[in-house]
Amino acid sequence: MFKHFLHKLKSARYYAIHQSSRRSIEDWQLERLRTLVTHASKHIPFYKDLSTYAHLRPESLKKIGDITQLPILTKDTFRNRPFEEYIDSSRTYRGIPLGATSGTTGKPFVFVGGTNLLNFQRFRFLLWQGITLHNLSKIKYVYLNKATIANPYRLSIPGMNLSAYAERTLNSIENFRPLIIESMPTILLRLVEVMKATGHMTGVRPTYIVSFGEMLSPHARRIIEAALGAKVYDRYGIDEAGVIGIECAFHDGFHINVESIIAEVVSEDGTPLADGGYGKILVTDLNNFHTPFIRYDTGDYGKLLWKKCRCGLESPRLWVQGRYSAYLVFGQNIIHHEEFSFLLTDFSDQIIQYQIAKLSDALMEVRLIATRDVTAAEREEIQSRLGKLAGEKVEIRVRRVESIPSMESGKLQTLIDESVSPEGR
Ligand SMILES: [Zn+2]
Repeated sequence: MFKHFLHKLKSARYYAIHQSSRRSIEDWQLERLRTLVTHASKHIPFYKDLSTYAHLRPESLKKIGDITQLPILTKDTFRNRPFEEYIDSSRTYRGIPLGATSGTTGKPFVFVGGTNLLNFQRFRFLLWQGITLHNLSKIKYVYLNKATIANPYRLSIPGMNLSAYAERTLNSIENFRPLIIESMPTILLRLVEVMKATGHMTGVRPTYIVSFGEMLSPHARRIIEAALGAKVYDRYGIDEAGVIGIECAFHDGFHINVESIIAEVVSEDGTPLADGGYGKILVTDLNNFHTPFIRYDTGDYGKLLWKKCRCGLESPRLWVQGRYSAYLVFGQNIIHHEEFSFLLTDFSDQIIQYQIAKLSDALMEVRLIATRDVTAAEREEIQSRLGKLAGEKVEIRVRRVESIPSMESGKLQTLIDESVSPEGR
């Protein structure tokens, strides 16, 4: 695997394929997919046991669309099995990082690998702006999320330090002079607040900002860009497969990292959707041979489009709506995260972030961080739309708040069930 991967790393084609034509991209992906599928059906106990894989001949995958012959896997597929069943035990994984799902949507599970975290995957929009691959590995950036191993090019600062040691944290960012500040929208918004509160409005001046891990509202983007004087490049990924895509300078969808990832969108029952159809996002990680994730349900929803971008790239773009697979239950009604996203899209001029809390079976609270108070008409509109989803017996309270406490990881929990005691969860 390692040799194989090194070989791939050396291959210039690997770095360039996302700038090729659709046909070249799909040929590349098909070849990788065949290799991965063959490997999984030979070496991974769980895949060996799946009848599709047991009978599969790689030649029967004739075009990339034939991937739909393979079964869809979910988080449950992995977390309900012993680790040994879904990793390649024929080779050592010593020295290969272990990954774990964050557990925001259920019991976490551990896997081996996760290779899509190089600067090439995380910051490739810089390549499109003329930075060479060589220099891409030497850019200075601030990772404002959690502490990681020290590195001369990376300054890692836990997000909570912004509140605990505001002055010191801002000074260290200023002195580091990063090209990029990378963090989740919630933490970037907190950075802006702390800068304003401490009078550091001009010191922190990255050239770029990269956001990840949460839905970025248009309004939050504007606030962050105005305060830091730099453009935000939003990025999409999941713990299991690393970086899936990132925006280009036109900020119109995530360009898929096609050399590493095959992305698909399917309906709720798994039927493949036509280009531009809205549904569940599946990914296949073409790099991870230790824990293959093939047609893996991300839990996120969105649409995928193969249409040449204004930037010139032909690689498909993904628009993600409903970042988490979380949902709230009111009686018979299950409300999925994406059904709340109208709050950010239809009220985008004032709502920056929101949280929906279930306080009891009969009470829902909508917490809004907003630029102004919602008017009575807007309040009624929100109540009426949510009332249709939750059922007429549910009272809906709309509240403007100053802040929303984030989870331990720093992520904003958009949906929260406060009707159960913490012990009972
Ligand atoms: Zn583009």
